[in-house]
Amino acid sequence: MAKDRLAEVLERYEAVIGLEIHTELTSLRSKMFCGCPVAFGGEPNTRVCPVCLGMPGALPVPNEAAVEATVLAGLALECEIARFSQFHRKNYFYPDMPKNYQISQYDLPFCKNGHLDVEVGEGASAYVTRVGITRIHLEEDTGKMIHVGGAEGRIAGADYSLVDFNRAGTPLIELVTEPDIRTPEEARRFAQTLRTVFLALGISDCSMEEGSMRVDANVSIRPRGATEFGTKAEVKNMNSFKALHDALAYEIVRQADLLDSGGRVVQETRHWDAAAKRTSGLRSKEEAHDYRYFPEPDMVPFEFTDEWIASVKAKLPELPAARRERYAAELGLPKQDARLIADDVALSRFFEQAVSVAGADRAKPVANWVLGELSAHLNATGLAVEECGILPEMLAELVVLIEDGTISGKQGKDVFAEMAQTGERPGAVVERRGMRQVSDTDAIEAVARRVLDAHPDEVASYRGGKSGLIGWFVGQVMREMRGQANPAVVNDVLRALLDQQDR
Ligand code: ADP
Ligand code: ZN
Ligand code: MG
Repeated sequence: MAKDRLAEVLERYEAVIGLEIHTELTSLRSKMFCGCPVAFGGEPNTRVCPVCLGMPGALPVPNEAAVEATVLAGLALECEIARFSQFHRKNYFYPDMPKNYQISQYDLPFCKNGHLDVEVGEGASAYVTRVGITRIHLEEDTGKMIHVGGAEGRIAGADYSLVDFNRAGTPLIELVTEPDIRTPEEARRFAQTLRTVFLALGISDCSMEEGSMRVDANVSIRPRGATEFGTKAEVKNMNSFKALHDALAYEIVRQADLLDSGGRVVQETRHWDAAAKRTSGLRSKEEAHDYRYFPEPDMVPFEFTDEWIASVKAKLPELPAARRERYAAELGLPKQDARLIADDVALSRFFEQAVSVAGADRAKPVANWVLGELSAHLNATGLAVEECGILPEMLAELVVLIEDGTISGKQGKDVFAEMAQTGERPGAVVERRGMRQVSDTDAIEAVARRVLDAHPDEVASYRGGKSGLIGWFVGQVMREMRGQANPAVVNDVLRALLDQQDR
């Protein structure tokens, strides 16, 4: 869909968007109510037990680490934490749910009334928008259906369906936002920013592709200036940030076309088809009473004390927003660089270790190498920073070699490539390849004099006013010295010689 179509629609209508985000607590070792391990994929139905298979008589025992992770998420997002809370049964019938109900939370979620500030856009048009968090609650994930034969992956027309309960009972947190989001881009940035927070908390790997982070989007439109909300549709099945953005853009235009032609939006759940780039109606939306919620009778309610909540709060790590501020304020990084590093926990750790070796006054060049060569290397190899073979102190050593003039920036790139391939320390590469940059003024001056003597015409032109020739002279000297001279020193020496009128 053309971008300008969305822009045109958004001139007349305002979009209202609220997100519901499910995140599996993949960093926990065991499931929500039993001891089965939490992992992705694997041989179907091998990580199951009577509890997560919903066998009669099997009793759930809540995973304390999951409760703590949920409260940690709530505290990171400035939520109020419930003092009294409990699980409810949410009843519905679908073959991926062995108990025919899901243990979830209803009117007493662990966390509510929080918010997250989201930076949208870049440069001069950048702005910050605050998105309210209605609630965060804890529940268990369902199993997975695999529909075989018939129309690709569709229930209707499949020859038969298989079910895998490995995922059933995985601890899952559901976060619901207020309808505070106004554009597909804000929605994308909210989801990305939330992901950086959860990654910083270490509660999930937040993989949209593997489904450990799943975003459903509620969207409606209203004429600009209107105060009432329009009827919303809920869009599901986006498995990337781009898909979230594109599905919302499509849906906003679809709703505008409906209203423009005198139709009306019906409240329903719609499915995003990434290949066809469109949404289609899936089913009419369930109401809360359809689920016949009632308190889970197999577990006692939770009573959180202030001391317990404080003890969880004490475990909050530095969050990306605070880290961005610190990098900009204390290390002088440009805003954009600060964000790119701070949003990534592993990269931040690497960066800070490198800076602690190279020195805070070299934070900027360290950041340049982290975001430049190192990131390119990680992208090209698909390796994570902690497994790429380059240690923070190696990058620090490289930066110091360049900053103190031992090698040039250009030589630094060669050293980096070699270090990335062999794991050899930069100092050793420089020694072995005899790369030491010559900064010795006498040695450079001797060569510079030779070059000037060999090119009297160019010297005359320079002295006659063609000062741009300095670059050409520098090039000649560098070539003579096989690229090992310090370019800044070469420049100074040449200028000194050329500007001597008595020569
Ligand atoms: P429901 O009762 O249909 O589940 P909720 O009020 O619980 O609806 O809201 C579910 C999600 O939809 C929330 O994220 C909320 O912000 C969002 N939402 C509610 N009303 C609208 C609307 N009119 N347009 C867009 N999003 C909305
Ligand atoms: Zn189990
Ligand atoms: Mg609701």
